[in-house]
Amino acid sequence: MPQVVTRFAPSPTGYLHIGGARTALFSWAFAKNQGGKMLLRIEDTDRERSTEAAVTALVDGLKWLGLDWDGEPISQFARAGRHAEVAHELVKSGNAYYCYCSPEELEQMREEARAAGKPPRYNGYWRDRDQSEAPEGVKPVVRIKAPLSGEIVVKDHVQGDVVFKAENLDDFIILRSDGTPTYMHAVVVDDHDMGVTHIIRGDDHLTNAARQIVIYNAMGWTVPEMAHIPLIHGPDGAKLSKRHGALGVEAYRQMGYLPAALRNYLARLGWSHGDDEIFSTEQMVEWFSLEALNKGAARFDFVKLENINGHY
Ligand code: GLU
Repeated sequence: MPQVVTRFAPSPTGYLHIGGARTALFSWAFAKNQGGKMLLRIEDTDRERSTEAAVTALVDGLKWLGLDWDGEPISQFARAGRHAEVAHELVKSGNAYYCYCSPEELEQMREEARAAGKPPRYNGYWRDRDQSEAPEGVKPVVRIKAPLSGEIVVKDHVQGDVVFKAENLDDFIILRSDGTPTYMHAVVVDDHDMGVTHIIRGDDHLTNAARQIVIYNAMGWTVPEMAHIPLIHGPDGAKLSKRHGALGVEAYRQMGYLPAALRNYLARLGWSHGDDEIFSTEQMVEWFSLEALNKGAARFDFVKLENINGHY
């Protein structure tokens, strides 16, 4: 068995929120439990939304929570050359292709699909077309050849086998016409190159996982183990937001919460060990397993968090 490598891969577009902190805690606890490593990757490819202030807030938030990582944080943006290289390699191996469609042509394609009662998707126009037909002066995007039939199965430690029909995946873009990678592609190349063995993240990424598997397969790379954890909800069952009293980690720090209390509380949002309510971080690390992650959405309850703080 290779050494376990997990990662926390936040997009630096705001402070470290409760959901992100929980993902980081689980990735960290699993790595520690397995005697492995956790890496920190800053997903800063979206240049308009990423800020240095957010990177600092994420790093400070993790440190305050007592979560450490191995090596230096990795900037995804800095690896854009490598992402492009892999995309071109996929074209060479016949697993991806250049697509020259204009926005108008794409819109027309979607219209036609809608009119035929089909989901509005790219129809594979350039999939098998000769490059000699390429219009002059148009910079192409690179699209991956998604399987035309069959199924993609995401084997997930939390969700079980999640089956996606190939017909629901189109030939999605992996490299934009300006040579920058899409999120879908960058994540796969980075996870592979960083030797990530286990991906632990929110289940809002589950459908992305199916597309990412298409890229892994095309490259002949091993798909990492996956654990998609249900998102956190408020006591009313709606997706967690500030109106439930959920704040960024920094706000709890300022209010005088102890990192150990917040860690304990976050751990219980989606993970449990029998009826144990208050446990040390060492115990959590010792007991942690992906199989014990809960399938149902976790409920954030500010009152419980306040109670726990009193125990520390
Ligand atoms: N950057 C993504 C996010 O912040 C996470 C990507 C991933 O974990 O694969 O939601």
